Amino acid sequence: MNGYRTKCRILSLLVIFCNLLWEVSRLAAAERPNILFVFTDDHCTQALSAYGSKINRTPHMDRLAREGMLFRNCFVTNSICGPSRAVILTGKHSHLNGFVHNGNNFDGAQQTFPKLLRQAGYQTAIVGKWHLRSAPTGFDHYEVLIGQGPYYNPPMIRNGQRVQHTGYTTDVITDLALDWLKTERDNSRPFLLMYQHKAPHRNWQPGAKHLTKYDDVTIPEPATLFDDGSGRGRAAQEQEMTIARHLSPHDLKLAPQRGLTVEQREAWDRAYGPKNAAFREAKLEGQDLVRWKYQRYVKDYLRCVDAVDENLGRVLSYLDKSGLADNTVVVYSSDQGWFLGEHGWYDKRWMYEESLRTPLLVRWPAVVQPGSENRDLTSNLDFAQTFLEIAGVPPPADMQGDSLVPLLKGQTPDDWRTSVYYHYYEYPAVHMVRRHYGVRTDRYKLIHFYGLDAWELYDLKQDPDELRNVYADPAYADKVAALKEELTRLRQLYQVPDDREPQRQRRKKAA
Ligand code: CA
Repeated sequence: MNGYRTKCRILSLLVIFCNLLWEVSRLAAAERPNILFVFTDDHCTQALSAYGSKINRTPHMDRLAREGMLFRNCFVTNSICGPSRAVILTGKHSHLNGFVHNGNNFDGAQQTFPKLLRQAGYQTAIVGKWHLRSAPTGFDHYEVLIGQGPYYNPPMIRNGQRVQHTGYTTDVITDLALDWLKTERDNSRPFLLMYQHKAPHRNWQPGAKHLTKYDDVTIPEPATLFDDGSGRGRAAQEQEMTIARHLSPHDLKLAPQRGLTVEQREAWDRAYGPKNAAFREAKLEGQDLVRWKYQRYVKDYLRCVDAVDENLGRVLSYLDKSGLADNTVVVYSSDQGWFLGEHGWYDKRWMYEESLRTPLLVRWPAVVQPGSENRDLTSNLDFAQTFLEIAGVPPPADMQGDSLVPLLKGQTPDDWRTSVYYHYYEYPAVHMVRRHYGVRTDRYKLIHFYGLDAWELYDLKQDPDELRNVYADPAYADKVAALKEELTRLRQLYQVPDDREPQRQRRKKAA
């Protein structure tokens, strides 16, 4: 009898112990932070007020900076949409992840950080823009735009099935993100949610709410709006991305917009009809015409950013109300920077500062000092390893970045990188920006347009707007030699194959 009792006691103790173990592991899992990755397309720091924008206000993004860390020097490795996304997913440069330019097909069988988080017990989801052609892999749930996707009434692919939505895409994507958080989330596991907007990508169609915002103001022009590239080199002069000559009537809203419902079209006609009539009446020419195009283009861009910021506010508010905010790392970034009229341009692609730099804001309660700022050289190559370290997952040896977690804790390692490598491949193609690679340090930038065998050197301290190529200046000869050596070292470190620029062929239609 005693033996039976003892066995019963041991059994019940075992059951209690197992329950305890399960509970401890569940709590440990729950304590790993959630990760909300808020990602936009073509949003530059010049249009984000936490970075000192002179042209707009972004209060909800600013809130992330105020409650977290702002990275001053976060650069992309290849300033174009799809490639940036592939670098972020894999933690590898374009030549290794295989997605070197838009139009490639992402190999979804390869290692990505969402897959590694999922294996480690995270619930993973992506909503919004994907833009990598192949179907998303590594996600418990996905609902993504098809290709670039439209600004209004987007069809989307939800876990393999096409779904038609009505409404403004920035709002729709936010509704989907909130729906997932409210109804699909598994409370027993931490989550990764990639909440990725199309906005403010070309052709900058604002939502109904913002169609006339900024109508009564004049947006300040950048100092380099009328730069002709003559201080830089042939590549900068031969491109096709000027506000003066390359914006289409569709971009400028002088042509009817496609894909709108009757109601949406009426709102557009009310907003743009009188403005367009006044423009035609004015018959502007020369610099006056460029100035008009600049205002039209930048205002539409800012209206798209406004919708993103307001929608981010909705998501942050939900995190607060649901109690998720305390244990959720919120990261805000964009796939690259952008020219908002600097050098007379729109678009990205170049290794010049405006397109090389991307915003990065990270809020991580109880870890990141609120209102802090980091000036180290950081990169979208670092994101994958950062997310893995946040989740306590060891990074694979073949990832090429460095985790930003020490920086987030205010402890930059002594041996942190002192240069970043860049490589752009999409030529010949829309905008005709030559292939180039280069190296940037905290002060200098050396660029090689290898199809032209043309070199450019900028002293960013003396010439922050990059208007004077000093490559041939004898005063910089030692600097050129040292930077070429560093470039060779980086190309070896990252296993970059020798690359020749393809011959110019038939031009593609706008991507
Ligand atoms: Ca982009």
